[in-house]
Amino acid sequence: MGYMQSWVKCANSAETDFPLNNLPYGVFSTGGTDPRCGVAIGDMILDVAAAEAAGLTGTTDLLGQGIWNPVMAAGPQVWADFRNTLTDLLQEGSSQEEELSSMLHPVADATLHLPLRVAEYTDFYASKQHATNVGTMFRGRENALPPNWLHIPIGYNGRASTVVVSGTDIVRPNGQTKALDADTPSFGPCKRLDIELEMGAIVGTPSSMGDTLSVAQAQEMIFGYVLLNDWSARDIQAWEYQPLGPFQAKAFATSISPWIVTAAALAPFAKPTPSREVALLPYLAENAPGLYDLTLTVDMAAPGGAPTRISRTNMQELYYSAAQQLAHHASSGCAMRTGDLLGSGTISGPDPHSYGSMLEMTWGGKNPITLADGGARTFIEDGDTLTLTGHALGDGYRVGFGHCTGTILPARK
Ligand code: MN
Repeated sequence: MGYMQSWVKCANSAETDFPLNNLPYGVFSTGGTDPRCGVAIGDMILDVAAAEAAGLTGTTDLLGQGIWNPVMAAGPQVWADFRNTLTDLLQEGSSQEEELSSMLHPVADATLHLPLRVAEYTDFYASKQHATNVGTMFRGRENALPPNWLHIPIGYNGRASTVVVSGTDIVRPNGQTKALDADTPSFGPCKRLDIELEMGAIVGTPSSMGDTLSVAQAQEMIFGYVLLNDWSARDIQAWEYQPLGPFQAKAFATSISPWIVTAAALAPFAKPTPSREVALLPYLAENAPGLYDLTLTVDMAAPGGAPTRISRTNMQELYYSAAQQLAHHASSGCAMRTGDLLGSGTISGPDPHSYGSMLEMTWGGKNPITLADGGARTFIEDGDTLTLTGHALGDGYRVGFGHCTGTILPARK
């Protein structure tokens, strides 16, 4: 599919994340209005709740609730029909240009909200480089990769209650830690606060308790993707994680980008998972390319300082796709829900400039990162702002996610 042109001229730019080829779904308000469903086009937002009320979208009672879950639950045929209708409405030469013009709002004037009601949140561990790096630091090189890692997309059940939209400030967590040279644990502000650069997959259609899913069925259930920052308290994690995995170290906040980029918009950029080092059991076999060629970046800024690019990697560094993770998630008969959020796991490439966490970039705090304005960091300090971006490149255009950003506030007394 080539570069499509819109009558919304700002969308016809190689610089925008939101050309007509993208059409991502968000929730916005302007001047204190109730949050409503919108679609990004260039640097504008189309109020699709108003468009539905005017009878233009081909949908009924799906877009007026200020959240995308009703569309997600409606299933793949509705997703495809709605996207085709939107494309027709917004493309150059559309007969609806005049009517729709009054439903456009500059994104600069809007407040963006969580685009979905997150039902449940599961976080995986699907980058081999990340798992090897963290395992080496926590357990030594011989035991770096757990014996199950090449066979199972490992995950843990996280907290939906603390998933927040990009731009939400994050309070430094308190927690219990124990320094290696201390005899007893203590309680207080996290001293090793970190990011995790991840993609979040959003489950559209549900499955029932007792049902299992093929990877192909799982792929059809995925509505779209967001950028995801799985904020992590490394000192709390190191003390609490055995034997049941992360708990409070990752329960205090997870940030996602405000626009859901649909699986349909990403389809032209699909790529297969890497070749298997050990054959997977048949229920996890990939039937179609499940990853995307997405460039992902992390920028860090000290208070009042210019941002420094501290990482650049690609979604293709994952060993398991979201569809494989979803098929595994349901393999016991676990019910999956509309609005479930699946974190990919930290995405790390082969060299330190492509690592997806500061734990890895600084190798456990040993090698500080130098910021553009001269500061240095091993972990995140109060007032620092971390920003993730992601995009795929088409021929003359890009399909992007916007930003996933958050600023750290001091811990509560
Ligand atoms: Mn994570």
